Amino acid sequence: MIDKKDQIKERLGNVLVRSDLNVPILNNKVADKFRISKSIEIIEKIYEDSRTITFISHLGRPKKKDSNLSLRNITDTISELLRNENLTFIENIYGPDVNNLIKSKKSKIFLLENLRFYEGEINNDLEFSRKVTKPFDTYIFDAFGASHRSHASVVSFGNYIKSYQGPLMNRELEELNKILENKKSGYSVLLGGAKISDKLGLIENLLPKVENLLIGGGMCFTFLKALGYEIGNSLVDYSFIEKARSLLDSKYANKIILPEDFGVTKSIESKKRINVSIENFSKEHIGVDIGLETIKIFSKLLSSSKYIFWNGPMGIFEIDEFSTGTREITKIISESQAYTSVGGGDSVSAINLFSDIKKFNHISTGGGASLEYLEGKKLPGVNIYKSLII
Ligand code: AMP
Repeated sequence: MIDKKDQIKERLGNVLVRSDLNVPILNNKVADKFRISKSIEIIEKIYEDSRTITFISHLGRPKKKDSNLSLRNITDTISELLRNENLTFIENIYGPDVNNLIKSKKSKIFLLENLRFYEGEINNDLEFSRKVTKPFDTYIFDAFGASHRSHASVVSFGNYIKSYQGPLMNRELEELNKILENKKSGYSVLLGGAKISDKLGLIENLLPKVENLLIGGGMCFTFLKALGYEIGNSLVDYSFIEKARSLLDSKYANKIILPEDFGVTKSIESKKRINVSIENFSKEHIGVDIGLETIKIFSKLLSSSKYIFWNGPMGIFEIDEFSTGTREITKIISESQAYTSVGGGDSVSAINLFSDIKKFNHISTGGGASLEYLEGKKLPGVNIYKSLII
């Protein structure tokens, strides 16, 4: 007879957790552990109620098996964060190896190989989904960063065993809903980064609700081009000029704050930077950062805001000479009294370089998924399972 304690321990049984452990890898080592540390917080929450806990995730975009993108590369980091708990890596994601190891009691925590080494994941193959979930009793979908993809682990694994939406997913949605539903005054959104394509939908959706929309980074040049300014050889996406122009002609135009001066260079390799106003931008210049006057203007608006959502660096912050704008703005946001929410991706790298993630109220693990959610899109992996209440 199983005593009461064992019964509780096995309520979830063998648990498969789909996390987003997709982190940058440099020389086979994890370059940023933010997503991993957030993802494994679930262990503490379900430990007592589970027999084993097995993580599954994708890493990068492999076309076939590739040792650089093996999840083995992140085992040291997980082990370091787990401290007193052993982690067993399984070089497979289904079949006898997986079944036997999970039953072996070799450890309580397991990590499977990269989901995207298998075509079945991307093709949303049902037989693949059945095979992967077979040794488990419970599936927890907790990978917000993958929830915008209709892949097998997102939309089909849950068909075969008892399934829940995990705690990190729930927290992400709660925070992103605050951004979507915010009606408070003093609401500022700051956008930067290179790609305008993945942020225009969000701009259209949030612009009516915000007080200020500040735009820096490479994407501001598409707006400045639409206004007829000389932007030299700066990044521009011609396919979005019309859209940018229509936003600048809309009734919300006065909410859009564009830079007035820039850090520019004649060649990125030279790393030489000068500050020019928009009027003095010449044909040879490349805009690589927001300028000193713009830093002051953005800082003033951000310091008086009550709620800030930020996504994307203000310049090519990976190069020291072009990082001033991103560094200063990161500091201003981290010191502000406002509720601060960050959309993930490169902004997290900037925070790690120039400030401290603890100084922000929420940092999304989502990246692309958070941008799509903020566009108002219904994501395939959101709210398809009931929430795990723990
Ligand atoms: P995204 O993924 O769209 O958020 O873009 C992030 C990237 O934007 C970073 O790698 C930055 O180096 C880059 N970036 C920011 N500002 C500029 C700029 N003015 N010109 C070119 N790239 C930029």
